[in-house]
Amino acid sequence: MEENKVQEAPEKKLNFLEEIIEEDLASGKHKSIMTRFPPEPNGYLHIGHAKSICLNFGLAKKYGGKTNLRFDDTNPVKEDTEYVDSIKNDIKWLGFEWVNEFYASDYFDQLYEWAEELIKKGLAYVDDQTQEEIRIGRGSVSQPGKESPYRNRSVEENLQLFREMRDGKYADGEKVLRAKIDMAHPNMLFRDPLMYRIIHAEHHRTGNKWCIYPMYDYAHGECDSIEHITHSICTLEFDVHRPLYDWFIEKLGIFQSHQYEFARLNLTYTVMSKRKMLELVRNNYVDGWDDPRMPTICGLRRRGYTPESIRMFAEKVGVAKRDNIIDLSLLEWCLRDDLNRRANRYMAVLDPVKVIIDNWEDGKVEWFDAPMNPEDPDGPKRKVPFTKEAYIERADFMEDAPKKYFRLKPDGEVRFKYSYIVKCVSFKKDADGNVTEIHCTYDPTSKPGAGEWRSVKGTIHWVSSTESKKIKVNVFDRLFTEEQMGMLPEGVDYKDYLNPNSLEVRENCYAEPDLLKDNSGIAVQFERMGYFFFDPKSNGYNKATGLKDSFKL
Ligand code: ATP
Ligand code: MG
Repeated sequence: MEENKVQEAPEKKLNFLEEIIEEDLASGKHKSIMTRFPPEPNGYLHIGHAKSICLNFGLAKKYGGKTNLRFDDTNPVKEDTEYVDSIKNDIKWLGFEWVNEFYASDYFDQLYEWAEELIKKGLAYVDDQTQEEIRIGRGSVSQPGKESPYRNRSVEENLQLFREMRDGKYADGEKVLRAKIDMAHPNMLFRDPLMYRIIHAEHHRTGNKWCIYPMYDYAHGECDSIEHITHSICTLEFDVHRPLYDWFIEKLGIFQSHQYEFARLNLTYTVMSKRKMLELVRNNYVDGWDDPRMPTICGLRRRGYTPESIRMFAEKVGVAKRDNIIDLSLLEWCLRDDLNRRANRYMAVLDPVKVIIDNWEDGKVEWFDAPMNPEDPDGPKRKVPFTKEAYIERADFMEDAPKKYFRLKPDGEVRFKYSYIVKCVSFKKDADGNVTEIHCTYDPTSKPGAGEWRSVKGTIHWVSSTESKKIKVNVFDRLFTEEQMGMLPEGVDYKDYLNPNSLEVRENCYAEPDLLKDNSGIAVQFERMGYFFFDPKSNGYNKATGLKDSFKL
């Protein structure tokens, strides 16, 4: 029933990063490899970051190298230790270990010294222009930029002004430090890029020590170099930054790290920018960063995703050199594949209708054995109680059933999974025509293991109404209604595509009693219904994903 087939990839060949690394190791360019994962602590990690984590840590692991965790904390205004902690937690949960925990801010002194060195070499200057003047002065793709009137300050003057910037003499935006490269360069990033800006704000690690902060392009390559990162892997949009990354390293004559770019992960029906996710959280469109509908790692974890399934997903997605959008259903497939193997099974009825077994003695309870996981038939068993009254899914009974309907119908027979065959003898309806009660008789000779096995076409799940436990279930749909969320036209608000029905809470569900004793720590399978993971926050079970061939709730 839990059929879950996907086309297996043909025999795996090396991805382009593995090819580069194997070449570098074979040629002796590097004796061992060093990678890094460089999150900015300005939000929670999402599935796109997971891809990058699996790649950076995975490559190092495969080739006997090491990986640093480096927080790219160069913007004190947006960053916070809350994010630092969540990021570390998420990486560990995904199953990876870093050899060093570093912060770009650890290198502020070194970066500052190097900036002075570049000034002394005549390769950097202090500019007094406003942000707007600088922007206009840059020119455009078709037009060269204009040199700043402050560009030809003497080394002494630049040194003095830069030190005064550091010492807090100027207000935010009053001055910047720029690299002196070429205002007519075809790569706009080379038109005297900013190296430092003034921000009078408390930093979550360096406090008030600094009021000047390095820009990404100036800091990133140097941080990589300090840590002797051999392969600095980032997403495609940074390919135009690579020459600048190399320029700073070359001018300083320090260890040459190399940057390589791969396509960022995009998923259908999903937004993944931290800015947008922060907006969803702040405006209560979702229940926090770990809302089970969010593509964050903590959201996926709360939903019932396993680290194994996310790593499998990253592996299946592979490493592309061109942007593409991956189907969300691949992620779900990976989860099902993992849970099908490992999840304990229980029966739970999510839309109950009562069944009364007329020929069963009042108060009698009979216990049936059921495997915890049919993938492991000799493994542990659970006990399922059969009593006079039961619940079945409303959708498993049909009054005017077509011929091919093999679940319960008037005069029809079904097997209550793991127990007896029952036959519907009558039913009651309320004034609105809803079925309220179904009467059945059971066939005592149909007991599993007793005598000859009689088979009937339909088997349904059920729970005893008196021995079962009442549970709450949270059923999710996609957070957005549009498949191509990453391709919305200009000017369209992504929030217009929020799915108003992405959460359905079902208070009135019943599960077999052993469910409450489950201590597997992962999601369980409600037979025929899908995989569900207990969520202490809502005191309910989150539907992680369905079973492929199950009927819709
Ligand atoms: P966002 O755009 O969501 O804010 P970001 O790139 O600013 O993401 P960082 O914290 O700077 O977030 O990212 C850390 C690392 O994760 C970077 O190396 C970045 O390239 C990588 N990364 C971020 N998003 C993705 C993605 N969708 N797919 C693959 N890698 C990603
Ligand atoms: Mg970033």
